[in-house]
Amino acid sequence: REGGLEGDVGESVKQEDGVSVSLSGLREQSRQAYLEKREARELELLEQAIRDEEELFSGQEMTERERKDLAMRKEILRMAKNRGGEEEDDAGGYRLPDGFIDEDGMINKEKKESVLTSRYKDDVEEKGEMELWQEEQTKKSQMGFGKKKKDEKEYDFVFDDAIDFVVTETKKGKNKKGKESDDVKPDEPEEPVAKGLTDHEKILVGRKKLPVFAYRDEFLEAVAEHQVLIMVGETGSGKTTQTPQYLHEAGYSKLGKIACTQPRRVAAMSVAARVAQEMNVKLGNEVGYSIRFEDCTSPKTIVQYMTDGMLLRSFLTEPDLKSYSCLIIDEAHERTLHTDILFGLVKDIVRFRKDLKLIISSATLDAEKFSSYLDDAPIFMIPGRMFPVDILYCKQPEADYVDAAVVTTLQIHISQDIDSGDILIFLTGQEEIEQCAETLTMRTKGLGARIPELIICPVYANLPADQQARIFMKTPPNSRKVVIATNIAETSLTIDGVCYVIDSGFAKQKSYNPKTSMESLVVTPISQAAANQRSGRAGRTAPGKCFRLFTAWSFKNELEANTIPEIQRTNMGNVVLQLKALGINDLLSFDFMDPPPAECLMRAFENLYALGALNDRGELTKLGRKMAEFPLEPMLSKSVIIAEKYGCVKEVLSMVSMLSIGASVFYRPKDKAVHADTARLNFARGGGGDQISLLRCYTEWEDSGFQTQWCFENYVQSKSMKKARDVREQIAGLCERVELEETSCGVSDFEKVLKAFTAGFFFNVSKLARSGDYTTVKARHTVYIHPSSCMAKDEIPADFLVYFELAFTTKEYMRQVAPIKGEWLTELAPHFYNEAD
Ligand code: ADP
Ligand code: MG
Repeated sequence: REGGLEGDVGESVKQEDGVSVSLSGLREQSRQAYLEKREARELELLEQAIRDEEELFSGQEMTERERKDLAMRKEILRMAKNRGGEEEDDAGGYRLPDGFIDEDGMINKEKKESVLTSRYKDDVEEKGEMELWQEEQTKKSQMGFGKKKKDEKEYDFVFDDAIDFVVTETKKGKNKKGKESDDVKPDEPEEPVAKGLTDHEKILVGRKKLPVFAYRDEFLEAVAEHQVLIMVGETGSGKTTQTPQYLHEAGYSKLGKIACTQPRRVAAMSVAARVAQEMNVKLGNEVGYSIRFEDCTSPKTIVQYMTDGMLLRSFLTEPDLKSYSCLIIDEAHERTLHTDILFGLVKDIVRFRKDLKLIISSATLDAEKFSSYLDDAPIFMIPGRMFPVDILYCKQPEADYVDAAVVTTLQIHISQDIDSGDILIFLTGQEEIEQCAETLTMRTKGLGARIPELIICPVYANLPADQQARIFMKTPPNSRKVVIATNIAETSLTIDGVCYVIDSGFAKQKSYNPKTSMESLVVTPISQAAANQRSGRAGRTAPGKCFRLFTAWSFKNELEANTIPEIQRTNMGNVVLQLKALGINDLLSFDFMDPPPAECLMRAFENLYALGALNDRGELTKLGRKMAEFPLEPMLSKSVIIAEKYGCVKEVLSMVSMLSIGASVFYRPKDKAVHADTARLNFARGGGGDQISLLRCYTEWEDSGFQTQWCFENYVQSKSMKKARDVREQIAGLCERVELEETSCGVSDFEKVLKAFTAGFFFNVSKLARSGDYTTVKARHTVYIHPSSCMAKDEIPADFLVYFELAFTTKEYMRQVAPIKGEWLTELAPHFYNEAD
């Protein structure tokens, strides 16, 4: 199911013509609209005045009047900033009238009158405006959980949007033996660490407290006895950081490197840094990591953390992995595509390398499956303690989970004891995380010293290393940490001290649409299993609470029980290419743990053959070998590579990047629709359809020096453009690797560009039928031009169209279409088309 929980968190991912539009895209639109408003300046003034005043009054008594006045200005500021829509709406958004803020940042007296009068029409005469305003805020601020203390009354105005939660169940705790128990005791108060201990000595004391430490010797015995071992333990028990060190201490590093794979780059880097610290060595020497585009290892390295994709690539250069003595496939429960392929490869390799130790490590209990796949390998359990966790669900579906997460955080922060624990929020990606952090910062800043400090720590892949370290720092007294993360914090990273989890219920997942052969990252509801993993993060050090930003009904009825392994929801084209590049030819008998459906494999073979990546014996061609280097869908990588032949690599790279960001590029505010449409037409003028419009758009932006201003002027989303630029840089880097020269033919010569595009996308061609409709050339399916296309209103329809993808809604729509010549087909795809077509 693409596009989220309809009718539940429906707003968060909207279905629009069958294509999911992420909330961030919508948000970006409203933010840009907002930016254009002249109010921006006024708000700045207001903000400055508030800051000045706070400074002026710091440490001094304010009169009641002054206090209220300041509070009101802050609230106006917050509401005005929060306003999403155009009109004043029920969510409390303000539209500031002209001249509402004076030059000195004060609210204009007469104007204030008018705003308040319109909001509280009738009563304003009888009651004082301020009282009324406060009354309304108080009414709205009923918090749905927790005890509210008397002295917290003054925080009331924080919420005009409190969320109601219901406690439905409590997840039972587990005692030290890993048995469910009603009575899990917290730790004895920590003995004061003896004075004079260095930081490193303190770390060593900490290592011994981890659950896995008690099983160190048993673990090493099991490894000595068995070649293959399945290791299972709760997140945070020490599997990732400790077991490689144990293996090293037991002498395995003398025989070869100890490798530990991670599905995510951030986890590989962060864990390696931690282990280097624990072993008191410099990162990159004895302990290192390798991720794509970055190798932080040296000949000295004995413990190597790496992404699963990197280990996969090692098979290309060292098929027997003889430089390794132990392999730990970590986070196996995640079942990423790379991990699944690794399973098949390592299963094979342990048969002929009897000296290689293999450990499959997982945070969930369904280890039997791994065990039976690996010839009944023994399962090593690390019992972990777990405190009970209350599960709270939203009473009503929340429209915007980022906003709901912000409000819930504030609710927790204010209503719960300050030393009761830190907060962990699960969102889906960097953009959301940044926005959440930004809103939290703004809302807490407005409250100044009235609430205890909230330390906001975002975590995502591109975060600088020093920022990453911040998430692990101990929270100082009288403050609370809130970590905002993707599902990386589900099992890969453990943050001590978390007692509250806020779960959006979503994650970004790769999803593959076999009808269109397209793969994209889509915000998808998580599985019940993942939701339970997330809630478990709240009960590591003390009893905790998990706030689910979805309803109990939704959990039961709309979430899948388990996450479907990536291999079953991915485009097999890429997998086949990768495995072929590894020299594995007979894929039908490859030992997959969960084999992809045979017909998917066959379809992939056929398509790769038609693309020219495989020859008629099913072997990789020279072209196929190059295509395997690109992390792109084969149709796209073919277009890029073939572009060299037409001398238009530069143009195709820009076009492909624009096409593959999957976000909307053009922006159309309601009140400026005509301007926006004209701006868009400018890109389409000159012909070439949507693909070439996108190319013109990118090229002009590039010519402007990648200006944000240019985006505003041309009604183009600057964030989408920046994303496209990032993607482009990555692909261009790979072009260098396969020695593809970045030739350029100029935008005006766009027929070449379309030819290169068609060389990859010839599966997606439709022909004008006598009826005036288009039908696909091979399947003779009726398809329509998507209304958003710049060709939708062309008076003279083109005879042949190539399209980027099909969107299924009321009709089958072709999205991103371009006119081509019929005779290109037999020229570009002789294996697929013949004269009869
Ligand atoms: P597992 O792999 O079993 O989930 P880990 O080995 O990742 O467990 O984590 C064990 C402990 O190490 C965690 O409880 C955490 O306290 C600590 N830890 C892990 N990474 C870091 C880090 N980068 N900084 C500080 N502490 C860390
Ligand atoms: Mg781990």
